[in-house]
Amino acid sequence: MVQTENNTSNKTIHYDTCPLCNSKKIGLTLATEDYSISRDPFEIYVCPDCDFHFTQNAPAPDAIAPYYKSDVYISHSDTKEGLVNRLYHAARDLMLKKKRKLVQNLTTGKRLLDIGSGTGYFLNHMQENGFKVVGVEIDSDARAATLKNFKIKVNPPETLLEQKLTEKVDVITLWHVLEHLHDMDGYMQSMYRQLNDNGVVLIAVPNHKSYDAQHYGKHWAAYDVPRHLWHFSPATVARLADKNGFKVIAQKRLPLDPFYNSLLSEKYQASKLSLIFGGVIGLVSLLVSYMNPSRSTSPIYILKKK
Ligand SMILES: [Zn+2]
Repeated sequence: MVQTENNTSNKTIHYDTCPLCNSKKIGLTLATEDYSISRDPFEIYVCPDCDFHFTQNAPAPDAIAPYYKSDVYISHSDTKEGLVNRLYHAARDLMLKKKRKLVQNLTTGKRLLDIGSGTGYFLNHMQENGFKVVGVEIDSDARAATLKNFKIKVNPPETLLEQKLTEKVDVITLWHVLEHLHDMDGYMQSMYRQLNDNGVVLIAVPNHKSYDAQHYGKHWAAYDVPRHLWHFSPATVARLADKNGFKVIAQKRLPLDPFYNSLLSEKYQASKLSLIFGGVIGLVSLLVSYMNPSRSTSPIYILKKK
């Protein structure tokens, strides 16, 4: 990994070898852009040896903050006024319940670590349902909001990465977080240390081998460059797990994700009938994923220690 200055003088990270398997044969596979915030162009590279896809020349950790400055990444207000807000709250509550059921079906353990806990809704929901929760979140505003709204004190990443969390946990969750983490292996190793030997890890990440990803190409919303540094598939998640002492024991999915990704992708394509086309592609994608789980738009991978 080499940090360089690009021509806008922001720091970027240039990879000469595959971040997953170290192969030197990496090359360009897709030119896309940041459709949601900066409109800056970015390139996705592929490794022909392990098929890992990643964002080349992505902003370094201390230069990526401006790419997160948008309403999209600011949590919705808590007022329940307006149809959109009501729908948003209903969808969020449904997803919280589905995530909790998924966890409860995998383990009877009650100690949970959520990495990338955001504004703390999942932590709070799990705590209300009898879990002893620990959160890790990089954004200090989000940590402050979690403390203010839910009285839950969340740790910055160093606490996890520098092994300052003393108690081991039964469950670790990363809901659409791993693809944002510069230090992917550092987190995986920290998770290994922090997890009980019979514990489970749940990792939700987009799948660029999904039907909707292949349909939308460079407009696929879940490429989300440069915020998404890594673009996973079932095969590369399995390889990352294996490299860090884990194995993938199952793959699950949440039903709303293909619709969300398809609607947003239609928007990026500037489609005039985004609601209709997005809905149709979302539905096709969901049906394809029922027939072939490896093509789910956003699988949840269940990992255990090897
Ligand atoms: Zn590779």
